[in-house]
Amino acid sequence: MPTPLARRGPRGGGERLTVLDPATGEALDEVPDQQPDELDAAIERAHEAWRGWRADPAARTTALHAAADAVAAAGADLAPLLTREQGKPLAESHAEVARTVARLRYFAELDPGTQPVTDGRPVRSELRWRPLGPVAAIVPWNFPLQLASAKFAPALAAGNTMVLKPSPFTPLASRLLGAVMSAALPEGVLTIVTGREPLGARLASHPGIRHVTFTGSAATGRAVAGAAAASLARVTLELGGNDAAILLEDVEVERIADRLFWAAFRNCGQVCMAVKRVYAPAPLCSQVAEALAQRAKSAVVGAGLDPGTQLGPVNNAPQLARIERYTARALADGARAVTGGHRLEGPGYFFAPTILAEVPPHSPVVTAEQFGPVLPVLPYGSLDEAVEAANSTGFGLGGSVWGSDPDRAEAVAGRLECGTVWINHHGELSLAQPFAGTKESGVGIAGGPWGLYGNLSPFVVHRPQEA
Ligand code: NAD
Repeated sequence: MPTPLARRGPRGGGERLTVLDPATGEALDEVPDQQPDELDAAIERAHEAWRGWRADPAARTTALHAAADAVAAAGADLAPLLTREQGKPLAESHAEVARTVARLRYFAELDPGTQPVTDGRPVRSELRWRPLGPVAAIVPWNFPLQLASAKFAPALAAGNTMVLKPSPFTPLASRLLGAVMSAALPEGVLTIVTGREPLGARLASHPGIRHVTFTGSAATGRAVAGAAAASLARVTLELGGNDAAILLEDVEVERIADRLFWAAFRNCGQVCMAVKRVYAPAPLCSQVAEALAQRAKSAVVGAGLDPGTQLGPVNNAPQLARIERYTARALADGARAVTGGHRLEGPGYFFAPTILAEVPPHSPVVTAEQFGPVLPVLPYGSLDEAVEAANSTGFGLGGSVWGSDPDRAEAVAGRLECGTVWINHHGELSLAQPFAGTKESGVGIAGGPWGLYGNLSPFVVHRPQEA
């Protein structure tokens, strides 16, 4: 997303960024557009805080549970604010808050432990783990709290301190979250900085940062990796996806249609691991497209705070323009909109839930990441053809296989080149599992113990047995 569209606010008391409400397109609030000296000061504070924070794992566990309590208690303020700036239905914002709380508690209890290391010689070696130091996190606008917590929970549990930058499109709930957590954490352990670029680039290249963990597009991920190379900071990159769902010929279309639809359209399709392409056996293709179109027509689209809303607006104007562009190009390439295909009249960034059929496989809505409420349904002849098409993009985040025989579906799962494959559903992640994309979808592992170790440095004490 090249152009953050937050507008510059009135001067006085430092530069400000205006945050827009995507349901209306109107100004919602402002945050500081922080400058290099403020970033330096935040990183300095993270260094000072690290000395104490790294020293006492038991105190960290207590503090992280207290932070989780504070976040849970603030849910009634955090969730509506998140909905107003991000657009998602209120229940989904509450789910983000709940996930943040659960993640803090999960990592608070994880202990990296120590492991004996031996190759059979009479040597006593022990592997221990050390925190890295002050680390940086850069987060996108689709799940601001949930993705922030995926970064700060393992990092803080590991004994690191963190400076975290939310997207300029969605900084409000993150700032409130930081304030809420600061009641439970020592000063400087977690600092939220806000502002437009080049704030993220400065953070990624800052010599005081030991690890940069980034979630966002592959293009920005490349820039972040380049910036971090200046200080040889470690990088973890969670990037885009173009997940394929392969339907096998024994699939019961009506039985799976609801699940498949929501796996693609939840959060208005703005999910890295949403279903972004459906491959159906050619004889089933129109039935699948029709079943999904029925769900698309009946989905309630509206402001996230309106009771009953199932699909909110797209988060921001550049993203809406991209979705319009991809859809128009597909239609120009010969695709047919089974339903939707256009933005909705009126204020705000609303796009009609769209099912596309007869889409040429080279159309960007198939080959790239649409990241919006638009889903192409593509026919295949043989299963080999479907697997090859699913693996044909540069992405490798997730995928799914759907059919009446889960064992057969699972056999196909092993052929997909990606980090997670779901059978007869798509997108669920447990806190305990590793989350890692292959190919251009990521570098490094988040989630579960792997996420904790990604925030630690191995340290081996090696001595002969008799010593
Ligand atoms: P983006 O790459 O445009 O921005 C992500 C973050 O990087 C924002 O905070 C942005 O301000 C910041 N940024 C922009 N330029 C930067 C630079 N040069 N240096 C450092 N930081 C910079 O992504 P987005 O549009 O906010 O989010 C959508 C993308 O995120 C999609 O591609 C989606 O698939 C991906 N995503 C991936 C995951 C995952 O876990 N794999 C999860 C959610 C979203």
